[in-house]
Amino acid sequence: MSILTAEQKQIQAQATAFVAKEIIPFAEKFDKAGEFHPYLLDAARESRIFAMAVPMAFGGLEYSALTQAVVLEAWGYGCAGMATTLAASVLSMDSVLVAGTEAQKKQFFDPMVRGEIGSFGLTEPSAGSDAGNGKSTAVRVGDEYVINGSKCWITNGGYSSVFVIYALTDPAAGMKGISAFIVEKGTPGFTIGTVDHKLGIRSSNTVELLFKDVHIPAANLLGKEGEGMKIAMKTLDMARPAIASLSLGLAQRALDECVKHMQKLYPEKAQPGQTLQFKLADMRIEIEAARQLLYHAMNLRDAGLPYSAESAMTKTFSSDVAMKITTQAVQLMGAYGYTSVLAKLMRDAKIMQIYEGTNQIQRLVISRAVLAPARPAVAVQKGGN
Ligand SMILES: Cc1cc2nc3c(=O)[nH]c(=O)nc-3n(C[C@H](O)[C@H](O)[C@H](O)COP(=O)(O)OP(=O)(O)OC[C@H]3O[C@@H](n4cnc5c(N)ncnc54)[C@H](O)[C@@H]3O)c2cc1C
Repeated sequence: MSILTAEQKQIQAQATAFVAKEIIPFAEKFDKAGEFHPYLLDAARESRIFAMAVPMAFGGLEYSALTQAVVLEAWGYGCAGMATTLAASVLSMDSVLVAGTEAQKKQFFDPMVRGEIGSFGLTEPSAGSDAGNGKSTAVRVGDEYVINGSKCWITNGGYSSVFVIYALTDPAAGMKGISAFIVEKGTPGFTIGTVDHKLGIRSSNTVELLFKDVHIPAANLLGKEGEGMKIAMKTLDMARPAIASLSLGLAQRALDECVKHMQKLYPEKAQPGQTLQFKLADMRIEIEAARQLLYHAMNLRDAGLPYSAESAMTKTFSSDVAMKITTQAVQLMGAYGYTSVLAKLMRDAKIMQIYEGTNQIQRLVISRAVLAPARPAVAVQKGGN
């Protein structure tokens, strides 16, 4: 039974139709070329889907977390590379939703409403999983900050109009000295470096960002100086389920492609052997479990309840399921799997276990949540003795 409302089902149907018309037919071409897909931004403009996380007060669609997840699953089904463009742009907006003033929201969201995209720049060569170890700096000079340094593996970077960039305002304070800023494309000294070539999500744009004496207005500081890490962690809590959605789309597509191929191999009433049938049954079970965990996390967020552990759980579970199912699908389909869209799905699935915090890091977050409630109980017991 679906727990989606009639409105969510309608949005899901619209997203599925868009994906069938604008994504699936072109995904392979852009994947093979390893090129970004500007046409998709034009195709999506009228629907304002790139503003799905933007509040209505700023001209956006203000979709709930669950509705956004449903849209992202549909896009992940079509092409995880193209879906990453949408997910990463929403990720950049989340930092502004967390900490932006009204004026900053307008500054950041106006381009989204026009169909443009954004980037979230946290990672540096020395700061991936250890996100607090970045070296980029932002020095206050009068009414401005001057940014120096670099970011790597930044999604959408070559095509974004607006960026949220994390840099040290107080290097001596380490992680507590990180602050978050809005930086606009074209600011002098801000350039795009290397474009990365990738195993999967090859049509997604992944680049280096370089900052050489980049002057930005002091008004572009998000929150207060030193709040950057807190803003980044809240942003990632909000954004990680998007990776679960993309993973779910990938896994569902792999199962559907397997079934389609088997129906060709075993026409009419003939059935594949029981081993194969049971594999398909297991895939279906895992996909449904992943979907329900995602919907649960999104319902918690929409209800305003804590969901940080569930956000990490759904990202981890769905991406592991996507990797497992796409790999199994290639294996089950043999040479056809290795040479068809299933091969792309398998390549695309790998990044889901890595970006927005690797699954090992998610397991650290989850294990902390698992252990946390035990602490007071132990303390009470000790006090009682
Ligand atoms: C295609 C792509 C797009 C990306 N997009 C963005 C983006 O838009 N914005 C952005 O800011 N970043 C982005 N990233 C960066 C991404 O978030 C990082 O790659 C990720 O956080 C992992 O960091 P790392 O690659 O430096 O790996 P490392 O941190 O070097 O980790 C290497 C391995 O060690 C493990 N490991 C590290 N620390 C621990 C620990 N404490 N305990 C257990 N295991 C550990 C990791 O799990 C991993 O398996 C992107 C990366 C890629 C590849």
